[in-house]
Amino acid sequence: MPATLVTLLGTAQDGGVPQPGCEKSCCMDEFGGVTRSRSPVALGITASDGSRHLVEAGRELSSQLVMWASVDGGPLGRLDSVWLTHGHLGHVDGLGLFGCEAMGTNELPLHASESMLEVVKDSPMLAQLLTNRHLRANQFSTGEKVSLGGELTITPLQVPHRDEHSDTHAFLIEGAAKKLLFLPDHDSWEMTLDIHQADGPLEWFRSLFVDVVLIDGTFWSADELGGKAADIGHPPVEETLALLGDRGPSDPRVVFIHLNHTNPLHDESSAASAKVRAMGWEIARQPMTFGL
Ligand SMILES: [Zn+2]
Ligand SMILES: [Zn+2]
Ligand SMILES: [Zn+2]
Repeated sequence: MPATLVTLLGTAQDGGVPQPGCEKSCCMDEFGGVTRSRSPVALGITASDGSRHLVEAGRELSSQLVMWASVDGGPLGRLDSVWLTHGHLGHVDGLGLFGCEAMGTNELPLHASESMLEVVKDSPMLAQLLTNRHLRANQFSTGEKVSLGGELTITPLQVPHRDEHSDTHAFLIEGAAKKLLFLPDHDSWEMTLDIHQADGPLEWFRSLFVDVVLIDGTFWSADELGGKAADIGHPPVEETLALLGDRGPSDPRVVFIHLNHTNPLHDESSAASAKVRAMGWEIARQPMTFGL
């Protein structure tokens, strides 16, 4: 039986790349062409029983489903559940595509926290996805493992993040052999480590017995966006690298995801990318796969 397969369907922060309106070299070249095209982060998880589970529901759903099927063989339109980490733009702005104007799904299970489901129910546009039974609300609780197909389980773990609409969760995704932590957004290591009672990121990862961590790499440094990055939250990659140090033989793989359009990690030839690789850590590509 094949192992659980996780496919990373996007590497960008919610705004995507190119970000609307950006004329700088991160998004546009000197001839007016697009420098690179990256979708907001999402995961396609294919369980060993063939069931397919999507994490995040972004506006690039169409191309992401094509990308996913090119990796796992599809079927392209098969979806057995959808999971949401929180209510920010790129994580939920494709929810409407499950409605009658597009996919028109039938009772597709939507796994989200109580406050995230409230956001859906309180939005006139999104609430009809539930009342018209395109989606069926499946409320999860932090720390409670949910069994999906085959050996696949997902355990939501709460993390602190500008929680103005909903709370925010990371997902611990487990197959028969390995565990992967998906943590696209959080505000600071200080707060995240505090609620998970760990002294450092590696100690936290060890306590979860994870083999792979897909981690918030939104900004390279606090100076990005002319200093505004420091106010937006998301620990800068430079800070995360300082906490991680060089990768040791028993450390998990750590892959930086959710990259803002300004982040030099989008450029494989940048000095920033070379530094991450030299320390033994990884930078996301789309698509990228992990067998669990
Ligand atoms: Zn985000
Ligand atoms: Zn840009
Ligand atoms: Zn967010």
